Amino acid sequence: MKVSILTMMPDLFGSFLNGPVLQRAVRKGALSVEIIDIREYAPGSFRHIDDSPFGGGAGMVMRCQPVLDALRACRKLNGSAGPGDPGSRTVILSPAGTPYTQQKARSYAKLDHLILICGHYEGMDARIYPHADEQVSIGDYVLTGGELAAQVITDSVARLLPGSLRDASTEEESFENGLLEYPQYTQPAVYEGAAVPEVLRSGDHEKIRRWRLQQSLLLTRRVRPDLFARHVLTDEERRLLEEADAGGDGTGP
Ligand code: SAM
Repeated sequence: MKVSILTMMPDLFGSFLNGPVLQRAVRKGALSVEIIDIREYAPGSFRHIDDSPFGGGAGMVMRCQPVLDALRACRKLNGSAGPGDPGSRTVILSPAGTPYTQQKARSYAKLDHLILICGHYEGMDARIYPHADEQVSIGDYVLTGGELAAQVITDSVARLLPGSLRDASTEEESFENGLLEYPQYTQPAVYEGAAVPEVLRSGDHEKIRRWRLQQSLLLTRRVRPDLFARHVLTDEERRLLEEADAGGDGTGP
């Protein structure tokens, strides 16, 4: 797949593009990333891409023309159509967008072409929005620009592409089954008096599976009650929670 990032700050992507997961995906031919400088589409020697807002107020707003000319050029170059094209998706990064989730990452990873448009200043002229498929937010906070959000999305999509991760599977990670991942441990077995749970050293794969599932359930219930409320418990999960609430660790017979 190809990810095109439209930005007025192309220099912010240097070290990001050299990250190991991205590089592996590129080497395997699963991903290519292009950075498009919106400023190159602004006319005049000053290449102004912003102007003051109609109606007054603080800050500046990104103008339609440079953003939409950059978007049209990007689509033409990549043979992508506008909103509704099944193989491509155009996403405007915005704190006012719908929340970004692992489910969205999975759906983007199936596309041929993903276009991410980074905002700056107070955001962009609202007449740009209909030219995109959606606005997406990476969280309930305000960043200075969309570049970090574009990197978050590109990274989370790249690691889902075939061959981008060396050994791990993404299927057991947080959010994949609607739960947070269980706690992980590595050597040494005891560190400053804190021991790795006995079950993880037992070699009993079924007990380990049950313990991990129980830990996932307990963690999600404690720190993400919103996710937990949406999760439909299986009979086994209900039993494991009842057992935990009664003081068991899920490793019983
Ligand atoms: N005035 C805007 C508002 O109140 O919604 C905030 C604009 S913000 C300073 C500038 C740009 O950063 C936005 O246009 C967007 O591209 C990006 N941005 C900021 N927070 C973001 C978030 N949580 N998710 C995605 N993009 C974000």
